[in-house]
Amino acid sequence: MSSSNSLSIAVLPGDGIGPEVMAPCLEVIDAVASRVGDISLTFDQVDAGAACYRDHGDALPNETMDAARDADAILLAAMGMPDIRYPDGTEIAPQLDIRFELGLYAGVRPVRSIPGLPGPLADPRAQALDFVLIRESTEGLFASHGKGTIEDDREARDTMVITREVSEKLFNFSFELARKRKAAGHRGCLTCVDKANVFTSFAFFRSIFDQCATRNSDILADHAYVDATALNLVRNPWVYDVAVTENMFGDILSDLGAALIGGMGMAPSADIGDSNAVFQPCHGSAPDIVGSGKANPTAMFLSAAMMLEWLGDQHERPAYGKAGALLTAAVDKAFSGGSLVPFELGGESGTSKVTNAVLAAIDQVWDGSDLVATMGNMR
Ligand code: ATP
Repeated sequence: MSSSNSLSIAVLPGDGIGPEVMAPCLEVIDAVASRVGDISLTFDQVDAGAACYRDHGDALPNETMDAARDADAILLAAMGMPDIRYPDGTEIAPQLDIRFELGLYAGVRPVRSIPGLPGPLADPRAQALDFVLIRESTEGLFASHGKGTIEDDREARDTMVITREVSEKLFNFSFELARKRKAAGHRGCLTCVDKANVFTSFAFFRSIFDQCATRNSDILADHAYVDATALNLVRNPWVYDVAVTENMFGDILSDLGAALIGGMGMAPSADIGDSNAVFQPCHGSAPDIVGSGKANPTAMFLSAAMMLEWLGDQHERPAYGKAGALLTAAVDKAFSGGSLVPFELGGESGTSKVTNAVLAAIDQVWDGSDLVATMGNMR
């Protein structure tokens, strides 16, 4: 990590539409940094992913992992291609290995509607969603990644792992996020999503949550089963503030959350650990639209905004937080007129149209100085 004034970013464009959304993302970061000033970032672009595996026999070379570990933050686009697989048939997913290796237990998935963009639900309250799903990202069922077994072509097993150490860190992080949001006017409520009525591992998960809740009594704590949560996320998603869950459940529910705000191309994320963090859109490499110019870069931009805010907090450098808020506000402004509609929402705005609109909006927001009340994705 940097000891100089400059903060270092490891850039992993990856596969499929990854490089298509990463290039404009670096452009918009540059634009907000130069408007705000007092920001110095160095970018180190490194190789990982399915194409890297195909070409070099290694999906996550040591030098890439070293660069990621040493950087102040990691900006990752998308990895994996369905036609490039490991011999056991699983897809190449070094983004999972990075989460495990660096202990990035808190997968922060904001579900925030962009004002002016229609969502799939008719209720007007669903057009103004603002809650956060936190997906544990280093254990749960994903702990079995690469370790599943098949016995005699008869039965297969993948084992779920829940540890006290990681769960406590996860819940402490989640209560703290709920507290920050409460200070910004949200309800201050954390929901533990589990299946404690059926599985010992989830009963353990819930009991640790309850213990943490007693130490965080300023935040309302409640529980919900994952099946009921899936129902409620469609029926009345506006009731949530912060919800925390296991890795596999979080994987599924965060795609549901993405659908509520317009699709995978709108949904940003961060995977945060004690000293490292990856910022990455929720979507994958989207092989079906590679090279078509249809990839929506918004989720990538909003992930970069989260990165700038996180860097600002970590290093106590308000300019970075301001740049993140400027980028989020510019995305909102770009979509506010209703004429910018990405392909995945049935419109005709592709990568370059969205990028140009956000670049123009950065200038408009900055010149108009209407940034004051803008909160970032993490709050
Ligand atoms: P992964 O398993 O790696 O999460 P996935 O198989 O769930 O990936 P995605 O790549 O996330 O699939 O894509 C799911 C669908 O959403 C695809 O139809 C894809 O075209 C669309 N999609 C994903 N990202 C974007 C984007 N940025 N812009 C437009 N459409 C997207």
